[in-house]
Amino acid sequence: MKIYNTLTRSKETFKPMKENVVKLFVCGPTVYDNSHIGHARTYISFDIIARYLKYRGFSVFYLQNITDIDDKIIKRAVSTGKDPMDLAREFEAKYLQDMKTLGVENVNFYARATEHIKEIILQIETLLEAGFAYETDNGVYFDISQYPDFGKLSNRKIEDLKVHRISPDSNKKNPEDFALWKKKNDPPTWDSPWGTGRPGWHIEDTAITEEYFGPQYDIHGGGLDLIFPHHEAEIAQMESASGQKPMVRYWMHTGFLNVKGEKMSKSLGNFITIKELLTNYSPDVFRFFVLSTHYRSPIDFSQEILEQSQNSLNRVYKFCETIDELLNVENFTVDEPAPEESSPHKNLLETVENQELDRLLKETKLKFQKAMDNDFNTPSALSLVFDYIRSTNQIIRQDEISQKSLQNIKFFFNEISDILGFTFSSQPKKSKDHREEVLVDFIIDIRKKLREKKDWELSDEIRSRLNDLDIILEDK
Ligand code: AMP
Repeated sequence: MKIYNTLTRSKETFKPMKENVVKLFVCGPTVYDNSHIGHARTYISFDIIARYLKYRGFSVFYLQNITDIDDKIIKRAVSTGKDPMDLAREFEAKYLQDMKTLGVENVNFYARATEHIKEIILQIETLLEAGFAYETDNGVYFDISQYPDFGKLSNRKIEDLKVHRISPDSNKKNPEDFALWKKKNDPPTWDSPWGTGRPGWHIEDTAITEEYFGPQYDIHGGGLDLIFPHHEAEIAQMESASGQKPMVRYWMHTGFLNVKGEKMSKSLGNFITIKELLTNYSPDVFRFFVLSTHYRSPIDFSQEILEQSQNSLNRVYKFCETIDELLNVENFTVDEPAPEESSPHKNLLETVENQELDRLLKETKLKFQKAMDNDFNTPSALSLVFDYIRSTNQIIRQDEISQKSLQNIKFFFNEISDILGFTFSSQPKKSKDHREEVLVDFIIDIRKKLREKKDWELSDEIRSRLNDLDIILEDK
């Protein structure tokens, strides 16, 4: 597998620190407002990355922080008359719900900054003791002159920091030094060896990753905008505190979701919230739209492209439906000709065609894996799926397909569905299937009533008969 590493600006063979184990950290949101579809683009991309790594046999621990203390949160709380922590919890809950709806479900642990103040203070103390930080009347700062490698990730210079919002403090050693701890009296504040205050933004991530992963780990991700200065600052902090390099083996960054060439963002006001989008389109459609572009490239959002995604996706659903129908026909046919009655010529043809189908499937699977192995090239992987559908449809139209081949196709689409996070395999069921569901619920209800009447014999018999149909009932 190859992964593009922002640090080396090249695709590298992926080799985690510990064989088959991947420690993945992605910067989480600052929770002061609803998440927009630009955020969703980044988190869906890393969801795919986690999913594919798992598919390739790695055991993935995916960690994300939640920035629940920040000037933006306080500002919004003041303007809305809310408590900053209540506001943060409200938007954190909304973010998590959005992610769930979008099928972003591979994060193992969300770590809130405010629940890691102890770890943050410890890391600042280490930096102070080692001479990488110093205290002023206003806070504790990282001394950038002590870390000459600053800028190695972005290839930018320390002086560029001037254009970023760096704490104004005339007592700082260098104007670019960034805050590790801000001395404050207005709540929310936490006690520290330097008086009450709040942590700086960059230190929360390294304190959290050190706590769960140690000073070195495999993959760190986020959007392109975080490379400078956020990720540079993280490297400076962690490598200085631990003395170990590199902090991270592979730095991965997603391109922006743009609107008319401009980054979608709260400040520009050109955003659509995830919730708004999902009132008109399904999570599958948005995911398809995201995956149609490589995760590192910019992606331009428009209604037309979403419509195209919907149409393309419909072709996949239709194909899966056809396969299901053919499988059902096979299952429910009663007057199938006995083998000896069928023409030997047709049998031969069938075998040949099925072989062709099996070859096509095998070849597509290999190519699919190759595309994904190549820095998670989802547009390539998707286009292979469409080629496959086209060719398979042609064969299906002409010939009868064996049950086994159909099952293999279904299995392949279930696999793709899992890897890419779609719901191909669990689309709204047809009425017949729905009736089955209703029927099973009905039987379960009847059994419940029998149990209430203590008719154990009959209720056990129903359970055993359902069991034969692979419907397992557990009485709690
Ligand atoms: P924030 O809450 O602003 O820190 O953003 C959370 C994550 O979403 C970060 O990794 C950002 O880089 C990413 N992000 C924000 N806006 C966009 C966008 N328009 N396109 C892609 N990613 C974005």
